[in-house]
Amino acid sequence: MTSYPTLKKVRDLLAAHHLSPRKRLGQNFLVDANIARKSLALAAVEPGDCIVEIGPGLGALTHLLLEAGCRVYAVELDSGLLRYLRQQVAPTYPHALDLSKGDALDHPLAGLPQREKNFKIVANLPYSISTSWMDAVLSGRLPDRLVLMLQKEAADRFVAATGSKNFGSISIFIRSAYNIEAIHRVSASCFYPAPEVDSTLLSLRIRKAPLVFDATAKEGIRRIFRHRRKQIGSILARMPEDKRFQTWLEGLMRNGFKPATRPEQVQLRDWQRLISS
Ligand code: SAM
Repeated sequence: MTSYPTLKKVRDLLAAHHLSPRKRLGQNFLVDANIARKSLALAAVEPGDCIVEIGPGLGALTHLLLEAGCRVYAVELDSGLLRYLRQQVAPTYPHALDLSKGDALDHPLAGLPQREKNFKIVANLPYSISTSWMDAVLSGRLPDRLVLMLQKEAADRFVAATGSKNFGSISIFIRSAYNIEAIHRVSASCFYPAPEVDSTLLSLRIRKAPLVFDATAKEGIRRIFRHRRKQIGSILARMPEDKRFQTWLEGLMRNGFKPATRPEQVQLRDWQRLISS
C-alpha cells in the first residue's frame, strides 16, 4: 500500500483477501486521507515516536505512522485482518511494527513493553469498546497524547463538563488526567462502510500533574452516576458501607456543599478530592 487507501481500494483489498466488514467488530475503515493525516498532525507525530494503535484494520493509519518514522504497537482482534497485515504490511517494517492478536480490552496498550516510557495513542476505535478501553487506559501507564476517532455520543461523554447531561464517570476520569486539545466532527462518508452514527476526532494531551482515580474510587463514582437524577446525599445514604464516600461528602459539606446536589452538578475539583481522601 503506497498511497492512502480510497474507498475503491479498500473495497478491492477486502475482496482480494476474501474479507468483508464485520459490524460486530465495528469495522468502519477510514477512507479519507485528510482525516488520517489530521490524526497524525494532532498527535504531533515525529520520527522515533512510540505509538500504540488499537484495531489497525487494513493498516491505513498504521502505514502512515510507520512512514512517518514511528514505532507502532498494534493489537487487532480479527484473524483475517491480522493475516493481511502480517503478509502485506509487516514485512516492509520488520523492526518498527509490533502486531499482536487479541482483545484491546485485555491489552489496552497493545503489549507495549515496560521499557517504552513515553508513548502516544492514535486509533480509530471499534465503537463498542471505546469507553471500557479508555477506562482501562486510565488505570495504567498514561500516554502523553491520545488522538481517537470515536462515535460522537462517546466523545460527548468523554469531554463533558459539570452540569452537562453527558457529564459522568468517564468525563471525570478523563478530564482529571487530560486536557482537551481538539474536537472535530467527522462525516460518515469518511468511512467504509459508512456508520449509522456521526463520528468525532478527539485529541487529548496529558495534564502537567495528571490526577488518576484508584479502582475503588472509580467504582464508587460509577455507582453514584447510576442514580444521576437523585440527590447525592440520598444516594450516599443508601451506600452506608462506603465509608470513604461518606467522609468525602462530610468534608464537602463542611465547605458549604449541598447534599441536594445531583451527581452531574458536582464540580470536577470536588470529585478530585476523593483521590486524596
Ligand atoms: N484502523 C482501521 C482504520 O482506521 O481504517 C480500522 C478501524 S475499525 C473502526 C476498528 C478496528 O478494530 C477493526 O479492525 C476491528 O477488527 C478492530 N477491533 C474490533 N474490536 C476489537 C477489540 N476488542 N480489540 C482489538 N481490535 C478490535
